[in-house]
Amino acid sequence: MSEHDHPDWGPATLGLRAGWERTPEQEHSEAIFPTSSFTFANAAEAAARFGGEVPGNIYSRFTNPTVRAFQNRLAAMEGGDACIGTASGMSAILATCMALLNGGEHVVCSYGVFGTTASLFSNHLSRFGLETSFVPLTDYEAWADAIRPNTRMLFLETPSNPLTEVADIERLAALAHDHGAMLVVDNCFCTPALQRPLELGADLIIHSATKYLDGQGRCVGGAVVGDHERVAEKVFGFLRSAGPTMSPFNAWVFLKGLETLALRMRGHGENAQRLAEWLQHQPGVRRVHYPGLPDHPQHALAARQQSGFGGIVSFEVAGGREAAWRVVDGTRLMSITANLGDVRTTITHPATTTHGRNPPEQRAAAGITEGLLRISVGLEDFEDIRRDLAGALAAAGEGA
Ligand SMILES: *Cc1c(COP(=O)(O)O)cnc(C)c1O
Repeated sequence: MSEHDHPDWGPATLGLRAGWERTPEQEHSEAIFPTSSFTFANAAEAAARFGGEVPGNIYSRFTNPTVRAFQNRLAAMEGGDACIGTASGMSAILATCMALLNGGEHVVCSYGVFGTTASLFSNHLSRFGLETSFVPLTDYEAWADAIRPNTRMLFLETPSNPLTEVADIERLAALAHDHGAMLVVDNCFCTPALQRPLELGADLIIHSATKYLDGQGRCVGGAVVGDHERVAEKVFGFLRSAGPTMSPFNAWVFLKGLETLALRMRGHGENAQRLAEWLQHQPGVRRVHYPGLPDHPQHALAARQQSGFGGIVSFEVAGGREAAWRVVDGTRLMSITANLGDVRTTITHPATTTHGRNPPEQRAAAGITEGLLRISVGLEDFEDIRRDLAGALAAAGEGA
């Protein structure tokens, strides 16, 4: 928080006003500082800044005012002490693991995570002696059984991608803490506008800023939010040395995104709820996954833990991959792209795109079938989204 922030501000106000100081130019919109380095008045000041005795800007790999404004604002929105911006969501996860874990230690991660996250743990971090066990997100016994004496981190996404399963953050935080481990939550689907995991006991939050924080599909970036020691010292220290940090231009775009986050999340949720309810009654649709549907297995938990159900709807069509691809190809309005959280509706076939590199057993365990489609519901007029999908479903049915 900056000294001008108010502790009682709600999420919309924080998104608009938290975390930055005007420069002497008295600009009303945040300035961008596209400079790679900063100057010092003299040699002694340079030494004091490098030594950390005097705070201030040094070099934009690790200190930049625009990036700092984004970090302060997101920290305030999540209710965290500290936030670090990263080059991507993946580098936020990488930096967290590299800064806080050691070879020989163990992570428990849910199956229902972003495909590349699963791949980072099982194909890359494993080479440095960090072992990961995967468990079904909502099977609390499996989480408990997977914990070993060297388990240091529990990692999850809730709601999960792409099936929108919802995990009880409070319960898993208690389990982690009972075993001296930390709980890390990827808060991509809800954003702080709908869910604040730190208040529920999570230790760290991961963001892919690429998604809803930007909201308009422009920039790739990420963030880690949490306590001062872990985030501002350890994760910061790793990023300062390793380098996958956020650029000032991207930070400025994300700052603009945060301004409309609360409003956008309300709009995404309204359209997604209507689309999910409509999809349930369409021929050829076997199953609809959306936490806002009363028959979603964790509907009650989502209603308690989140202040909205979010913008991601997934559904399974009869006829497997062929039918699912015909639906994708039958859309005219929706964008066929793997991105999500955009103001424009996007449609994806997870089994052959976002989760295509995961081994088939891992996909099956995560419930990602060949007939599954994921829609990130945008802010177009609901009737236009519905009509586009109705046309695609009809075309897919005729092709069968
Ligand atoms: C996209 C995504 C990531 C990775 O973020 P990038 O910005 O693409 O690196 C991580 N977690 C979730 C849930 C995502 O959707």
